[in-house]
Amino acid sequence: MNSIISVLIAYNQLLFYQIQHLLVFIAKNIPLKSSKYNFTSPKYNKLTVDKLPVIKKVEPLNYILLLEEYQSKHGKSLKPIKSRGKNPVSSDCVCPRCGAPHTYIYDNTGGRGQLLCKICNHRFIRGKTDFKSISLQCPYCTYTLTKKKDRKHFNIHKCTNKRCSFYLNNLRKLSPEDFDEYQQGKHKFKLHYIYREFTINFFKMDLTSLPKGATNLTFRNFSPHIMGLCLTYNVNLGLSTRVTARALYEVHGVKISHVTVANYAKVAASIVKPYVDNYDYKPSNYLSADETYIKVKGVRHYVWFVMDALKKSILGYQVSNSRDVGPCILSMRMAFSKFKEFPGLALKFVSDGYTAYKLAQQQFMLQGMDFNLIQVIGLTNDDPVSTKYRWLKQIIERLNRTFKFSYQITNGYGSGEGSNTHVSLFVAYYNFLRPHSYTRWEPLNSIPELESIPNMPGKWQKLIELSQQFILSKQVS
Ligand SMILES: [Zn+2]
Ligand SMILES: [Zn+2]
Repeated sequence: MNSIISVLIAYNQLLFYQIQHLLVFIAKNIPLKSSKYNFTSPKYNKLTVDKLPVIKKVEPLNYILLLEEYQSKHGKSLKPIKSRGKNPVSSDCVCPRCGAPHTYIYDNTGGRGQLLCKICNHRFIRGKTDFKSISLQCPYCTYTLTKKKDRKHFNIHKCTNKRCSFYLNNLRKLSPEDFDEYQQGKHKFKLHYIYREFTINFFKMDLTSLPKGATNLTFRNFSPHIMGLCLTYNVNLGLSTRVTARALYEVHGVKISHVTVANYAKVAASIVKPYVDNYDYKPSNYLSADETYIKVKGVRHYVWFVMDALKKSILGYQVSNSRDVGPCILSMRMAFSKFKEFPGLALKFVSDGYTAYKLAQQQFMLQGMDFNLIQVIGLTNDDPVSTKYRWLKQIIERLNRTFKFSYQITNGYGSGEGSNTHVSLFVAYYNFLRPHSYTRWEPLNSIPELESIPNMPGKWQKLIELSQQFILSKQVS
């Protein structure tokens, strides 16, 4: 009996010992509470946009004068470089800034292309003879930025200074695990200061150009009433062109092919678009933007919407095959063009945390169009800004759901043109025909000529007629 008890006690102690070890293991290796994404970590800096660089004008110099200056200051002449065997600087090389001959030029990086002038300290790339009188400098350390990559729409200028305060600060913020990850793959992190210089001028692109496609209604056996019916089924009710054609036959006894339905939609879109885009919306100072993706021929496309968050009208829209800053700027320009006078900092522009909006804001700022960008980040109200402005964001998210619903039922489009057609018609419908709860089930923008018409196919016909009149009045003037 005694021996059993002592065996059990010994066993008990062994178990306690093991539990203790396990607890230590848990405490050491499994953190009790860790947030999933620590957005303050530099690992996520790729999502942020840095300050604008300092633009510095560099005066060209004359090496003969510089040599004379050196002579009078130091009492001896500046000696040419003794040639070093491995990577000699070719004899036709001249300093682009001061004109010094090759005998004063160092190979600065062991044959990798960067050269340094001994006389004026100018650094330049071999083969580059043009001297740019403007250089971009890091706003943190004033080091001259080096051009890193040519992307499709922009160049990347990077501060490569290892002692730059911006870089050192980010390096310090790295956790030990992140630091190991950084050592293994530096491209995953954005620790250095970067400036994106856009090569396409999105401010010079024409916003008002008419979409491709026929602009007259010369169809065989064309009836405006049937067109109105097609648009009501296709746009208001979100039926595909095939189902629309079937409804016309089964409900109204009209035989029409789905191709004709698609053609009606295309023509209606190109007629209605100028009217919709030039309408005087009198926007409020609260705009809200969002992008959503759709599929065209199985490929992802993006639809950008900028809406008046208070009056709910869609003011800017774009369909693009990339989620770049370009279409983002275009949709914003389209919305801003609705202001008779740009409200400047009184304008509150709400978007998600996506970088394109920040980059676009930077570009508008360079055009002298400064405004307040409010980015609502994440799904919960973690910060006061998100709490205050989330409702504005929710309004446009609701719009996007409405749009996706109408779009998805059509099973996507076979071409980019098809999706442009759909978006144009959707905007016309949303701004002028659709009843909204915000406006007591009246359309957002009331047009007197439409109000007296009792049914939707009739309203579509009238809207097309008004749009034709608008186009004609523009052609005359
Ligand atoms: Zn020089
Ligand atoms: Zn720097």
